[in-house]
Amino acid sequence: MTDKPSQSIAVQNPRTGEVDYQVACLSAREVSSRVNDLKANQTVWRELGARGRAAVLYRFAEALASESESLSEQLAVDTGRKTFAQFEVFKSIDLVRHWADRIEAMFETLASQGQSAQVPTVSYQHLLIPYRAVAVISPWNVPLLLALIDSVAALAAGCAVILKPSEVTPRFAEPLAKAVARVPELDAVFTIVTGDADTGKSMIDHVDAVCFTGSVATGQKVALHAAQRFIPAFLELGGKDPAIVMPSADVPLAARAIIRSGIGMTGQACQSLERIYCHQAVYDSLITELTRQIDELTLTTAEDGSGDIAPLIFPPQAETIQRHVDDAVAQGALVLRGGQIYKQGGNWYPPTLVVDVTHDMSIMREETFGPVIPVMRCDDAEQAIALANDSKFGLSGAVFSQDIEEAKRIGGQLSVGAVSINDASLTGIVNDVEKNSFQLSGMGGSRMGPAGLTRFLRKRALLFQQAEPASVTLFSDRNDQS
Ligand code: NAD
Repeated sequence: MTDKPSQSIAVQNPRTGEVDYQVACLSAREVSSRVNDLKANQTVWRELGARGRAAVLYRFAEALASESESLSEQLAVDTGRKTFAQFEVFKSIDLVRHWADRIEAMFETLASQGQSAQVPTVSYQHLLIPYRAVAVISPWNVPLLLALIDSVAALAAGCAVILKPSEVTPRFAEPLAKAVARVPELDAVFTIVTGDADTGKSMIDHVDAVCFTGSVATGQKVALHAAQRFIPAFLELGGKDPAIVMPSADVPLAARAIIRSGIGMTGQACQSLERIYCHQAVYDSLITELTRQIDELTLTTAEDGSGDIAPLIFPPQAETIQRHVDDAVAQGALVLRGGQIYKQGGNWYPPTLVVDVTHDMSIMREETFGPVIPVMRCDDAEQAIALANDSKFGLSGAVFSQDIEEAKRIGGQLSVGAVSINDASLTGIVNDVEKNSFQLSGMGGSRMGPAGLTRFLRKRALLFQQAEPASVTLFSDRNDQS
């Protein structure tokens, strides 16, 4: 095994712009040794059974609750978001309880047995075999929740998990590891490591399945790497979510949802609305509403951090956002609000509204991942659907129409995994409804709903012959068989 010595990674504070934290970068050798330990401990974890694992997960939820203050504090520094950091911790505890509440009943339903319909003398029993070690590699935009969403489901299924949060936002890993250490049975099968792309690659070298959340470019590398080892790669990647606004829409409510989704969290959510197709009948009123609502928002640049729009977490993202806006302007788009990066230690980007865009601009085609809303005028639903589907992404989308049959008809034709009707980005809060990613937005079973757990289980069929086994003559070419 080639190995480089452990190094440390310098971490920048998104609010101050200063490098004020160092995190260890685990070497390939260390990763290999951690995964070996996990695999050795996984048998006991699996044999605990669903009820036993649920009991451990309830204790983990309590441990997270007792670390909630330091988790929120570290997340707030990692992301520059105070209130959302608290919400993220609350949602994460809720997620752990969600699986703990369900696994026993789920395993009872899944463990099926019966008689073969094709060969009636054969009965069968299914055993559920979790992958032994699962790697979870997570991004910087929602650091704790996206680290735990796959980890907890895999643990609930009976897998051991090695988790690597993004090196851009690794501070929360310390209090998270403390919470895990409070629950020894979990500590034996849940390891949190820090590191960079190389650490992530080493994880894929040793595990039995990988869950990756991040960019399309890295997702493609992860998929190729996993394919070489024939291990499944569950990929949750980028998006360019469209919204369609129809004449019957409640325009102020549509604007509110579009702004929450597109501007909230500084636009740094995979399911942010990033392109709006608005019917010409309500175009002017939508623009007026969006402008009015944007004017009420403030950046969180004040000393006490109060305000609506937090800094950008990842400095290079600021350049991508500015490039998309500048490219649109150079091609004739009009910026009605925002449009210029604001530096004050860290990078802030003001809520930005862009009109007169065309569909070949990068602002309509590439993931911007910033608080930018480009709006395009459409003649009818068919044109809006065609434009919405003219994308390499297919994460989710939204339809605004008070005519529910029309909304269903439009939503049913969007080439995405989830469509919010008369709201936006509902998959950010609704985690118990299954959905898949389309096109380059991902691959593999749904991370939401029951499949979020069952995708970590393989079925082993035990087949019982109740009659005499057939003899080799079954395959003979004799002529005297009649
Ligand atoms: P990224 O792809 O740069 O990095 C994600 C993680 O991959 C990091 O932990 C990184 O260290 C690791 N990594 C990098 N190269 C690797 C390699 N070759 N092998 C293994 N691991 C490697 O993504 P990011 O910039 O942190 O996150 C932002 C992206 O994530 C956006 O595109 C966003 O849309 C997407 N995202 C998707 C979802 C979803 O559910 N679909 C959710 C959140 C974010």
